[in-house]
Amino acid sequence: MSIEKGVLYIVATPIGNLQDLSARAIHILQAVDLIAAEDTRHSRPLLRHFGIKTALTALHEHNEREVMQGILGQLQDGRAIALISDAGTPLISDPGFPLVRECHRQGIRVSPVPGPSAAICALSAAGLPCDRFLFEGFLPRTHSARRERLQRLKHEQCTLVFYESNHRVAESLREMLSVFGAERPALMARELTKLHETLISASLEELLQQVEADPMQRKGEIVLLVAGAKPEADAGQAAESRRILEILLEELPVKQAATLTARITGEKKNRLYQEALALRNQPTE
Ligand code: SAM
Repeated sequence: MSIEKGVLYIVATPIGNLQDLSARAIHILQAVDLIAAEDTRHSRPLLRHFGIKTALTALHEHNEREVMQGILGQLQDGRAIALISDAGTPLISDPGFPLVRECHRQGIRVSPVPGPSAAICALSAAGLPCDRFLFEGFLPRTHSARRERLQRLKHEQCTLVFYESNHRVAESLREMLSVFGAERPALMARELTKLHETLISASLEELLQQVEADPMQRKGEIVLLVAGAKPEADAGQAAESRRILEILLEELPVKQAATLTARITGEKKNRLYQEALALRNQPTE
C-alpha cells in the first residue's frame, strides 16, 4: 500500500469502538506528512493507541479559513495530508467543507478513506427503509426554527435522519410527535458501537415515553431516525382530520374534539388526541 504525494485524504475514525479504525486508515495516518485534526487533544489518544506518530495540526470550525491556506500550500508543494474529525466521517456535521471545496477548485486530489459514520451506522440497523433517506444533521437550536424545519419535513416520504444532543432529545421528540403524529415509527440509536449501545424501535409516542421515564436514555450520543410520511392518500386524510380537529377545537375541549374527529374520520382517537394537545399548546403567532 502506498500513498500519493499532494493528496488530501479524508479519513473516517471510530465513533466509539477503536477497533473500527480500518487497516487502510491506520496505514494512511502513519504515512502522511501531516494530520489535520478537529481537536488535537481528542485525537492524540486514538493515534497513540495505534502507534501513529505523525505531526498534528488543528483544523476546526473557528480557525478553518485561516489554517486552510497553509494546508493548501503544503498540498501544492506535494505533501500528503490527512483530515480527521473527533469521530466518524469528516465533513458529516463536522469541519472540512471549505478545505475540500478549495482543493477541488485548485485541482488538488481529494481521496476518501471510508469508515464509520453514526448516521449510516444507525440506518443499517434501524429496520426502517434505507433505499431513500434524508440526512438532516442537527436541528436548529431555537424553538421556532426547529419547528419550522420539522413542518417542512412533515410530508417527506423517505426516512429522516437527525443527530441530536442528549439534553435536547426529549424536547425534540415532543416536537416531532406534535408535527409528525404520535404513531410515526421511529428509532433512537444511542452510544453506537460503545458499551451501552442501545437501539429503541418504537412509535414517536412510545419513544418519548421511554426517554422521559428513563434518564439513562438521555445520556451519551444519539441518532434519531423517523420513518417517512405515508404516500399522498394518507397525507390527504391526515390534512382533512387536522382541519376537522382545528374546527372542533374552537368550541370543544381537547378530549371531546379528538373523540368526535375519530368518529367522523375513522382515524385512531389516541393519535388525534396527541395532535389536538399539540395544536392547543401551539403558541399563537
Ligand atoms: N462526523 C460524525 C459522523 O460521521 O457520524 C458526526 C459528528 S457530529 C459533530 C456528532 C453527532 O453524531 C453526535 O451528537 C451524535 O448525534 C452522532 N454520533 C456520533 N457518534 C455517535 C455514537 N457512537 N452513537 C450515536 N450517535 C453518535
